[in-house]
Amino acid sequence: LIMQYYIVMLLGDSAVGKTCVLVRFKDGAFLGGNFIATVGIDFRVSDKGYRLLKIWDTAGQERFRSVTHAYYRDAQALLLLYDITNKPSFDNIRAWLTEIHDYAQKDVVIMLLGNKSDLAAERVVKTEEGEKLAKEYGVPFMETSAKTGVNVELAFHAIARELKHRA
Ligand code: GDP
Ligand code: MG
Repeated sequence: LIMQYYIVMLLGDSAVGKTCVLVRFKDGAFLGGNFIATVGIDFRVSDKGYRLLKIWDTAGQERFRSVTHAYYRDAQALLLLYDITNKPSFDNIRAWLTEIHDYAQKDVVIMLLGNKSDLAAERVVKTEEGEKLAKEYGVPFMETSAKTGVNVELAFHAIARELKHRA
């Protein structure tokens, strides 16, 4: 029996919450407080329902970029994250999309996530700005919170559903 799975990659600047979103989806928990440094590439497998997802967690740091590039071509889906309380992380989304265009599969499924939606008082990126950017690139968009869990499951479900449609 060959287990079929899709490879989903988490991308975005350092500290936007990639690891926390993955932990929230996988374990239903939030590892608050401490910054969990992801070195290079880490992965977790999820077999919740539908289809097996092999989720690659990446480090956004420049020095790991070349490592990450090598994995782009194997990914069927990309979750691209920014932090709604961090403007540079949002401004860098265009650069990430350029990189995706250069390195990923042509038909890769992409979803844009504005994370840390629980931090309403510290918000510097409006929901409409995320929506506008997503629309410009023709990708679905959601605001998530790894802390409260809002939309995290939904985002992975949407990705899994999209992958199923394309299969
Ligand atoms: P990564 O570098 O993109 O993997 O980011 P991490 O997952 O390590 O998270 C970076 C920091 O942001 C940590 O201190 C987390 O506790 C915090 N964090 C991540 N997601 C959220 C969220 O949804 N809400 C809040 N309030 N903090 C978050
Ligand atoms: Mg990380």
